[in-house]
Amino acid sequence: MAKHTPLRKITLKSGRERSVTNRHPWVFSGSAKELPKGASEGEIIAICDNKDVQMGLAWYSPNKTIVGRIFEFGENVRVDEKFWRKKLKAALDYRQNSLYLENTSGYRLVHAEGDGLPGVIIDLYGDAASLQLRRPGTSSILPVILEFLKSELNIWRVFVRYNDESDGEWVLGESGPAEFWEYGLKFTADIESGQKTGFFLDQRDNRLKLVDFAADRTVLNAFSYTGGFSVYALAGEAKHVVSLDVSAPALELAKQHVEMNFEGDTRHEIIQADCFQYLRDMPQDHYDLIILDPPAFTKHQSTVDKATRGYKDINMKAIQKIKSGGLLFTYSCSQHISTDLFRKIVFGAAADVGRSVRIMSMMSQAPDHPINIYHPEGEYLKGLMLYVE
Ligand code: SAH
Repeated sequence: MAKHTPLRKITLKSGRERSVTNRHPWVFSGSAKELPKGASEGEIIAICDNKDVQMGLAWYSPNKTIVGRIFEFGENVRVDEKFWRKKLKAALDYRQNSLYLENTSGYRLVHAEGDGLPGVIIDLYGDAASLQLRRPGTSSILPVILEFLKSELNIWRVFVRYNDESDGEWVLGESGPAEFWEYGLKFTADIESGQKTGFFLDQRDNRLKLVDFAADRTVLNAFSYTGGFSVYALAGEAKHVVSLDVSAPALELAKQHVEMNFEGDTRHEIIQADCFQYLRDMPQDHYDLIILDPPAFTKHQSTVDKATRGYKDINMKAIQKIKSGGLLFTYSCSQHISTDLFRKIVFGAAADVGRSVRIMSMMSQAPDHPINIYHPEGEYLKGLMLYVE
């Protein structure tokens, strides 16, 4: 029998075990009585209570505020290939058995903490997978992931990004973009040079919502990226759709996406401009459906105030200028802007404009981006559908 080497460990301070007892996956440096001596970045360590009883296993990040990211709770855990495979299978089962993914081959297979795999993102785009393994330790399970993708999903093209600085690489199969379906609409993920893993799958169900409300409307898709919302608006029989973004390559793809789905359609227009400026300058009553899906204006708690002003600014302009009876789909994907705060910001914008506004619906990320109930930080995308009288 192989010799059993005990894992190095973090022992928690007395009174600081509660969050781990409550299955929160993050271990903060301040709650550690002792850090594991000699442990290297990405090493699997045990998280122990004050009496040195193991509470779970984590990947170690020395010199970080979050020193451990727990991927499994409990005492007697054996980490081997089978263990990781089981986790991946659970993620797949959830999506295959419980989600409505009709005519859809682009979806998120693993959503980090939401699937009990902190730092691991696996997005599927038709015949390809786009991975993010940005946290120390996560790349050690790449061989198991590859084996799983091949055997369970018949995926033979895999791209991996390891950190924000590097470009990422194809670790399996041929390079190039990947075509996929979303509710019967066709898209391309720009896996190598696009944003995130190449597409914003988290907005899928919110895009679908648009189909029911777009008919005969003049639509502004602000911060359009590659035109996801635009294609759905056209599918919903919109009169005219403008995709607005600063990025020329993103708009080029938006054009292609419209062409792939509605060949020769003249209802779509692209405008390359700064959205803040455009919203300030746009004429009154021109649009009767506006989508605002900006990038995260803040990635840190310290810049929440500045971000708040950014969100308020664009929402004010949209609420002010939209035609009477218009619909506003407005979003924030900043993790540090809570659902409550976002609603307050939009309330402030409406109050300043002084128009009558009804909340028709509240939105979140699609369920293939699940929120672990013990990890509320995983709730990052929030949206409001508003009716402006
Ligand atoms: N709604 C999109 C995703 C938007 S991502 C979808 O469903 O796919 C945010 C986009 O905002 C990016 O494409 C980025 O290029 C664009 N962007 C960021 N700042 C901008 C600005 N000031 N003006 C216009 N576009 C901007």
